[in-house]
Amino acid sequence: MKDKGCGKLYIISAPSGTGKSTVIKRIMETRKDLYFSVSATTRPPRIGETNGSSYLFMSHEEFEEHIRKQDFLEYAEYVGNYYGTPRKPVLDQLCRGNDIILDIDVVGCRQVKKAMPEAITVFIIPPSLDELEIRLRMRNTDTEDKILKRLERAKMELAEKDTYDYVVVNDKVNRAAEEIIKIMEHE
Ligand code: ADP
Ligand code: 5GP
Repeated sequence: MKDKGCGKLYIISAPSGTGKSTVIKRIMETRKDLYFSVSATTRPPRIGETNGSSYLFMSHEEFEEHIRKQDFLEYAEYVGNYYGTPRKPVLDQLCRGNDIILDIDVVGCRQVKKAMPEAITVFIIPPSLDELEIRLRMRNTDTEDKILKRLERAKMELAEKDTYDYVVVNDKVNRAAEEIIKIMEHE
């Protein structure tokens, strides 16, 4: 078999509620060869989320044990919970020549880009902050307190958008997904 070489690592970030998960799902329907890195988190599962495919849900103690064992490629604290990327599956897939998507926040992106400068970074933005708030509320998964904290965090994250290789507006899911697929083809 022909050697595929190393796979490409794509980092996709966006303020919570922008529609990143929705857009990534659409991309993966087209690019069935892409591997999605399942993160670990201490946040409780939302309705419809499954352990092992949405996230690896775990306790704070378990997460901190993985930090100690250096099992994470990167990790960050986000609105009161830990989120982290298990290192081994990412490196294994890249070595096999498979392309990978990491759905991580701006703090995690900085860590990965430092360790792996060849990573391609895409920041998805909402059409406006008002629309972001509408989407966060429409999703109906967070308490009022968490929604306000996520909106506050969104402002900090949006200020970092120019540090990414590409910025894509999620106005329409299909259009945004198409734009990111084109970026991947170009890369
Ligand atoms: P994220 O992963 O960025 O936190 P989600 O994918 O959970 O966001 O989307 C947040 C909410 O916004 C969901 O209810 C989703 O259906 C909706 N949504 C996503 N993309 C769009 C869009 N382009 N237009 C309108 N609503 C959208
Ligand atoms: P949510 O709770 O809405 O699923 O995710 C909250 C934020 O955590 C989002 O910005 C998401 O991209 C980010 N996130 C998810 N997994 C990881 C991860 O493994 N590492 C980091 N740093 N952020 C993550």
